[in-house]
Amino acid sequence: MPNWNPWQGCQKTSEGCKNCYIYTYDGKDGKNVGQVFKTKYFDLPAQRKKNGDYKLKSDDIVYTCFYSDFFIELADTWRTDAWVYIKERSDLNFLFLTKRIHRFHECIPPDWNDGYDNVIVGVSVENQKMADDRCSLLKNYPIKHKGIICQPLIGPIDLENYLDGMEFVTVGGEQGQNGRSCDYNWILSLREQCIRHNVPFTFRQTGTYFIKDDVHYKIARNDQSKQARLANIDYYPTR
Ligand code: SF4
Repeated sequence: MPNWNPWQGCQKTSEGCKNCYIYTYDGKDGKNVGQVFKTKYFDLPAQRKKNGDYKLKSDDIVYTCFYSDFFIELADTWRTDAWVYIKERSDLNFLFLTKRIHRFHECIPPDWNDGYDNVIVGVSVENQKMADDRCSLLKNYPIKHKGIICQPLIGPIDLENYLDGMEFVTVGGEQGQNGRSCDYNWILSLREQCIRHNVPFTFRQTGTYFIKDDVHYKIARNDQSKQARLANIDYYPTR
């Protein structure tokens, strides 16, 4: 799946940002990650090959703005043009995650109406407080495709009030040496909630510090996704 990073850099906004991977990786050379800049890939969806074909193939899901937040204030002057590319490429599906869903009305294009068919919006929530703040907004906003990412999951979350209308829930622990522990019981609870509401559920990865049956594990980076797959608890409704 292709990535599109029209801008890069971000500013921390809640507890889930504490060990943000772009601060960990981009910031390690002393780079100012809090400075948001437009990248050379800004117009990637509109870029064409020598033969005239688009560089991004039709029908792909494009992971959008995973090195920033699509709704960050510091990109307000560039977002209008980004929407133009998204609209031009109605043959692609653009997925972005945000911790700034409260800015929805300031950030959508004028012709959004009840949403673009090719845009999937996920809110990222790490604990109950952020789930209540962000999912209550997401639930009521006019968006054609929406979902919830509980990653890094740093506490138990009750999503029951927000699941109807969601197309996916993805969960995972926090990665890195300073990651906060994730308890398997929190993950199983979210899975049960998804099953009750017929929402697809994916356990993406364990994170570094993982608790199962009250035993604390430290899991190597390369094994975190593998262990989640081995748990074999993903759920896809048959509807
Ligand atoms: S909003 Fe996302 S990208 Fe931005 S600092 Fe927080 S975790 Fe990192």
